[in-house]
Amino acid sequence: MSSSLIAPHGGRLVAPLVPPSERAAKLSHAAGLPAVRLTSREVSDLIMIGMGAFSPLAGFMGEADYRGVVTDMRMADGTLWPIPITLAPAAGVDGITPGQEVALVDDDSGEIMGTMRVEELFSYDKRAEARHVFRSEDEAHPGVAKVYAQGDTCLAGPVEVLSEGGYPERFPEYARPAEVRALFAERGWQTVAAFQTRNPLHRSHEYLTKVALEISDGLFIHPIVGKLKEGDIPAEVRQRCYQVLLDSYYPEDRVLLRVYPMEMRYGGPREAVLHAIIRQNFGCTHLCVGRDHAGVGKYYGPFDAQAIFDEIPPGDLLIRPLKFDNTFWCRACQSMASSKTCPHPPEHHLSISGTKLREMLSAGELPPEEFSRREVLQVLVEYYRSMAAGA
Ligand SMILES: [Zn+2]
Repeated sequence: MSSSLIAPHGGRLVAPLVPPSERAAKLSHAAGLPAVRLTSREVSDLIMIGMGAFSPLAGFMGEADYRGVVTDMRMADGTLWPIPITLAPAAGVDGITPGQEVALVDDDSGEIMGTMRVEELFSYDKRAEARHVFRSEDEAHPGVAKVYAQGDTCLAGPVEVLSEGGYPERFPEYARPAEVRALFAERGWQTVAAFQTRNPLHRSHEYLTKVALEISDGLFIHPIVGKLKEGDIPAEVRQRCYQVLLDSYYPEDRVLLRVYPMEMRYGGPREAVLHAIIRQNFGCTHLCVGRDHAGVGKYYGPFDAQAIFDEIPPGDLLIRPLKFDNTFWCRACQSMASSKTCPHPPEHHLSISGTKLREMLSAGELPPEEFSRREVLQVLVEYYRSMAAGA
């Protein structure tokens, strides 16, 4: 039955996550290996590889793949891939040689996350990577800053993943691609629209997910729960916002919500392509791509993340983008709308900036229901109140 779902990127799921029954033995072996310390971004990438979300990657990229990805969005074998998935230990690589096995350790927690058979070590040009991948060399860009903070030498090779860093325990909605594919197959969904999010869902997001649902068998709401920027709303709070919305306003049998552990790079267009590849691996046929998808600040044009899909030759990426403009409540239309559907000037449109919304909620003031559902606002007001009480 699952054979009718869209194929994973590169043809098959590659998920080097060691089964729980074999972990204890492998962990005690790993404890005797030289340790390489991973940043939070590298840890989240390792978990993504382990679960199969980065299929067909089986480990951290070698030099040929890296160079092709940076300059042409292609791995050495021609497979489309937009952003390097590399491991460049900040503490350096002294004493590590090709052929050696190393333990991959979370630098924050000290936990052994996996092992890697080192196949290559290579140096790389951080500025060139930033320029190609992020379209900026500005260290104020959070994704660029992380590249600049990396070590100077990458270690590459296949991995075995021994831990998912507590995500499955912390999030009941945590799910791996094979599990989500099984759920889609069980429900008989052939076309599935994925919605990537790192924010609570307001009416505008509800509207566009429902437009997507009108033309799909199912909707896959897929929040990112890896480490975010300072000031972003914590994953657990967002999770409550999603739940109250789904409980009252979405048909239960046509929507699935699961979370994934990646860390945002805020890479705009290239990250949108990565988001698409990930959703294809989860079994989705479409990805909602809105204005300034995965962007930050003013680094990208509002539709760059949509235009990049037009440059990808047919067949290189099976999942397709669903392109959306900003949506809003229009007082003249008396409905949700966008510039694609509404003829009225902006003064008829209800719009509240993120900053203004935070101010209102912190003051316990609720925006109109045409902007956000009461149930969602209630969760957010409680969150801002608890922040104020804790401060
Ligand atoms: Zn209108």
